Parts: sequence; C-alpha cells; structure tokens
Amino acid sequence: MGGWVVEKKRLTKDPVCLMYVDEDKPIATSTYKGKTYYFCSHMCKDRFDKESDKEKFIRKLDESGK
Ligand SMILES: [Zn+2]
Repeated sequence: MGGWVVEKKRLTKDPVCLMYVDEDKPIATSTYKGKTYYFCSHMCKDRFDKESDKEKFIRKLDESGK
C-alpha cells in the first residue's frame, strides 16, 4: 500500500447551502428537534434560524445524501 494518509475528519453538510462543514470546527451551529446542524457561515445559520419551515432544508439535506 502506498503512503496515502487520509485525514479522518467528521464532515457533515450545511443544510442551507449543502457545503461540507468540519464538525470539529464549525463556524456556526443550530439545534433543531434535538439534532445539531452545522453551518459554513453565520449567514447560513441565520437563514436556517429565520426559516419557519426548517423541514425544507432538512428534506434537501436528506435528498443530497449524507
Ligand atoms: Zn452554508
């Protein structure tokens, strides 16, 4: 085997823009229904927090795969 070292990062997706976010170093987080969501920016968190229909983001996240 070669010398490739894969850094183990816990990546999760920002439900607003679907960008990958490092769970260990999130820029912003929000808790909804007991689950923590991670965001790439405060702008995305704001959009999530201000959205009354948060399920629409969560659906989009589910459809995009984890
Ligand atoms: Zn984002």
